[in-house]
Amino acid sequence: AAGQYVLETSVFPREPQQLKELRDLTATHPSCRAMMATAPDAAQLMGLLIKLIDAKKTIEVGVFTGYSLLLTALSIPHDGKITAIDMSRESYEIGLPVIQKAGVEHKIEFVESEALPALDFVRQEGNEGSYDFAYVDADKVNYWNYHERLMKLVRVGGIIAYDNTLWGGTVAIPPDSVAGSHRGGTEATIQFNKSLAADPRVDISLTPLGDGITICRRIY
Ligand code: SAH
Ligand code: CA
Repeated sequence: AAGQYVLETSVFPREPQQLKELRDLTATHPSCRAMMATAPDAAQLMGLLIKLIDAKKTIEVGVFTGYSLLLTALSIPHDGKITAIDMSRESYEIGLPVIQKAGVEHKIEFVESEALPALDFVRQEGNEGSYDFAYVDADKVNYWNYHERLMKLVRVGGIIAYDNTLWGGTVAIPPDSVAGSHRGGTEATIQFNKSLAADPRVDISLTPLGDGITICRRIY
């Protein structure tokens, strides 16, 4: 109930029209599993963080139809740049017309690839320590592998945000009551949350917005 209150009083009234359009398009598209998209309340916090640190150069792992991507593109300056990685371009194509209409496509470099090799490639290209902001919202079992790579790509003082760190609340219930289909993600997320809490290189906050979004700030 409190979550719905937040959405209705503070999120929906301030959601940019183009983002709402993309959210509705994703919800109604037959081939889309709309629940994969970043929750609007978590996205609102991301937009705020991006502006707070004046992020210009960002990277995203897990694009889907582009809700978080469009949010990022609308939050960085006109000459900002986003490296957007997803192993499939198909869903991105669905949201692309909305991104084009919003006039922010020029900020986006879409990379169709498995994320791990793409991140290694980006690093080899000389981008070490150059990103201000990173967002991870892809396969949960690889979150720690993404973290190790992004800690080299994001600058000191930069932010890495991880989505779905509460995994539907299953991280906090007895393991036997987690549905079999969820269990892999649950175990990976529990382990990831523990590892992050023990990582001295980052300040962290796991906020319960959406499906849980963990904000990390690189300390050194
Ligand atoms: N951030 C998006 C939602 C991402 S859903 C939004 O706000 O709408 C997860 C996405 O991660 C899917 O599009 C899927 O294709 C992609 N993905 C999953 N595993 C991946 C991997 N190993 N490498 C690259 N992309 C991956
Ligand atoms: Ca997500």
